Amino acid sequence: MPTRADRHLRTVRLAKDCAELGARVRTIHSITGLPSREIQRMFFNDPQSIPRGRPPDSPEWYHSANLLFRTDASIVVAIYRRLRHAGFSPGEALVGAYRHYRVVCQAPHRISFDRAFDLASHTDGIWIAKSPSFAIVTCPSCASEFLAALGTVPTADTCPFCKLVQRYGTDPRVQTSFPTHPLPDPTAFQQGMSMLLWKNTGEADGDSLVTSTPIPGDAKET
Ligand SMILES: [Zn+2]
Repeated sequence: MPTRADRHLRTVRLAKDCAELGARVRTIHSITGLPSREIQRMFFNDPQSIPRGRPPDSPEWYHSANLLFRTDASIVVAIYRRLRHAGFSPGEALVGAYRHYRVVCQAPHRISFDRAFDLASHTDGIWIAKSPSFAIVTCPSCASEFLAALGTVPTADTCPFCKLVQRYGTDPRVQTSFPTHPLPDPTAFQQGMSMLLWKNTGEADGDSLVTSTPIPGDAKET
C-alpha cells in the first residue's frame, strides 16, 4: 500500500517530467493537481524560463491544421490511447506518449507537450475539457489509427496517413518529415557483433558464456 509520501513523490516526479518536456505551469497543474506557485518554485527558478503565450486550443485547430500537423497529432494521441488502455494514469500515459513521439518522429517536432496535453484532454474529456470532442479511429484502408472528430466514420478520404502516402512522391516537405531509411549494412552489424564478443571474452575472466568462436561470415573478411 503506497504511503502519502510515496504518492507525493510520484506526483512531483510526474511534474518534473512534464516540466522537462516543456509543459507550461497551467498544464502541470492540471495533470498533477500541485499548486501553481509550488510548481513555479520547484521547476522554474528563472522567471524567464516559464513558458508563456496563449495555450493551445485544439478542437478547431486540428481540423484546419495541415497534413503533417494532423499526422503528428494522430501519432501522439494514438500512443496515449494505447497507454491508457494498458492501465497507465492519464499523466503517465501523456508523458510516455510524448517521449515516444519524439523518438519515432523526425525533428522539428510539430506537436508541443502543451498541444499533446490539449489533444488528450479533448479526446478523453478530462483535465481542461468537460467532454470528449475527438476520438481515435482506425482507417479501413491502411489500418492506421488517427485522430478525428467524435462520431466520425473513418474512410480513406479522412485518413491523414492515406493522404500522406498519396502525396509522398510529389511533396518534398512530406519526404523530409518521413525520410526512408536505407537497409542496415549486414557487414557492419557482423563486425560490431564480433567486436562486442571479443570485448566480452577479454574482460570476463574466462567464465563468460560468450566464447571467442568467430561468428559465421567473419572468415571471408579476414
Ligand atoms: Zn488510411
